[in-house]
Amino acid sequence: VVELVGVNKHFGELHVLRDIDLTVSKGEVLVVVGPSGSGKSTMCRAINRLEPIDSGTIRVDGVPLPEEGRPLARLRSDVGMVFQSFNLFAHRSVLDNVTLGPVKVRKVKKAEAKDEAMELLSRVGVQDQADKLPAQLSGGQQQRVAIARALAMHPKVMLFDEPTSALDPEMVGEVLDVMVSLARDGMTMVVVTHEMGFARKAGDRVVFMADGQLVEQATPDEFFTHPQSTRAQDFLSKIL
Ligand code: ATP
Ligand code: MG
Repeated sequence: VVELVGVNKHFGELHVLRDIDLTVSKGEVLVVVGPSGSGKSTMCRAINRLEPIDSGTIRVDGVPLPEEGRPLARLRSDVGMVFQSFNLFAHRSVLDNVTLGPVKVRKVKKAEAKDEAMELLSRVGVQDQADKLPAQLSGGQQQRVAIARALAMHPKVMLFDEPTSALDPEMVGEVLDVMVSLARDGMTMVVVTHEMGFARKAGDRVVFMADGQLVEQATPDEFFTHPQSTRAQDFLSKIL
């Protein structure tokens, strides 16, 4: 579904993505780990073209990323993204947050968008909150709304960039549970997270990123128990 071939990206002097080659297959759950500043967020943002790349190719379902305009809007709806901070529309109800995209971009009728939004909100367990504003919800609830909002666009792949790292510990589980259930339903997912429990339960593969390179790839069990490179060993000794 997602292919990166020879992707390079600089921020001025800093070479943040170095010759990244990566393929994520349909239904695969790829977990990305690595030290702070290694380029994990930049790679996710590049897949959504929130960050242009300097060289290489990124394809989603075989189609190279469009530069701009309507094709880019369509790509963004094919690639759902959930960030560390919830970025919901603050002045819109929870329900509106989920229906706006489908109505505006997918041209779904309002009533139909609303029915589907309510289904998605119940799937993530926040159907009772539909009429509230985001600020009236807990962080965990907001993050689940953000997931429902992305799902409402019928994405081909979902990118999660440290979706639980801004949450109070007691709310991490409820968000991870939703992600695990998505994974079990066959969603293609790229998940930047250091949550080993999630990686073990739902991850098909772990890639370890350091200094803009993919240094190591393995199954979650292999990676967390027998990391090969010294950099991965060093990293794991700090987070575990
Ligand atoms: P973290 O675990 O802290 O989220 P990360 O692996 O997601 O880190 P990135 O956010 O991708 O890392 O950043 C990679 C490098 O690029 C960092 O050194 C960062 O300071 C730099 N960087 C990120 N965005 C920009 C930007 N817009 N302009 C300049 N430098 C940037
Ligand atoms: Mg990051």
